[in-house]
Amino acid sequence: MGEFDLIARFFKRPPRHAALGIGDDCALLQPAPGTQLAISCDMLVAGRHFFADVSPHKLGHKALAVNLSDLAACGAKPLAFTLALALPEANEPWLAAFAQGLFELADAHDCELIGGDTTAGPLNICITVFGEVPVVQGRSLALLRSGARAGDDLYVSGTLGDARLALDAQQGKLSVPAPVLRAARERLERPTPRVALGLALRGVASAAIDLSDGFMGDLGHILECSRVGASVQVDRLVQCIGCYAEAAPAEHPLGIDLSVEQWRTLALAGGDDYELLFTAPAGQRAAVARAAQTSRTPVHRIGRIDAIAGLRLLDAQGRALEPHDASFDHFA
Ligand code: ADP
Ligand code: MG
Repeated sequence: MGEFDLIARFFKRPPRHAALGIGDDCALLQPAPGTQLAISCDMLVAGRHFFADVSPHKLGHKALAVNLSDLAACGAKPLAFTLALALPEANEPWLAAFAQGLFELADAHDCELIGGDTTAGPLNICITVFGEVPVVQGRSLALLRSGARAGDDLYVSGTLGDARLALDAQQGKLSVPAPVLRAARERLERPTPRVALGLALRGVASAAIDLSDGFMGDLGHILECSRVGASVQVDRLVQCIGCYAEAAPAEHPLGIDLSVEQWRTLALAGGDDYELLFTAPAGQRAAVARAAQTSRTPVHRIGRIDAIAGLRLLDAQGRALEPHDASFDHFA
């Protein structure tokens, strides 16, 4: 099977919204008047971002999901994407499953594949997504990392730490009951991009970022870009560790042999969560609750933005955690 057969067979589909899709030197997108294009690109490398033997269906999903998550963080509506693929071989069942996982998620978000590149090489997947953000009275409604202000509330969507738990269990660092591991692996391998929440937070949130590298590091980006600090109630954050509670209520958290510090580490430094971390003025609490409701996404208020630089981690009584309690590599 040659390169062009492969593209025609697995990736070319009838165009939907794009002015021109796959097949020419460029694709053509026609953004609606009064909108900006939001563009983001993420590469997944075998051995680095996923195990080479992971299910191709799940890989197709995840490769697009991590990109849609960036659009979600900007409050952008997905339009289209390109796919650059390096493949060690043209394995037809693998390609069929990969394309299926990819297009299931693409169709769920009405996001169309408009082009790409295909080459032989070590397995590598690079997707670029294009989304749309309205501009109202000359002002973009894009959610940025730089908009947090002192006094704003700090929120996180969904659950944290699940993907890291699955990874550590798969690598034999932790022993986890089977139903919990199943739920956690689902979160690692098939993350849900919070697109609907991002859209609902336009005009409500003051800043946003998606959690790909871990809560601490990603919050750091908001603080740096907004030139502010934050206080976080760590125990509220730990309560965001969710899949265990659902999968094993009787065992939570005792079915898993973790210290308090390790639980905190999962929530604070887990990574691969693909939840949204965002800020909003305290006067917007009702609007945030409505956004959570209309997007059917759980949202937790976990802290506050401060004028004083730096990140303060507080326990349930509001006492500052000692730096050693808050050093986040207990798994290292
Ligand atoms: P060029 O050499 O002009 O860059 P190619 O021959 O690489 O074009 O690709 C032919 C067409 O197929 C282009 O429209 C390109 O965008 C598309 N294409 C190539 N690889 C993929 C892929 N993996 N998924 C979707 N479209 C692809
Ligand atoms: Mg090419």
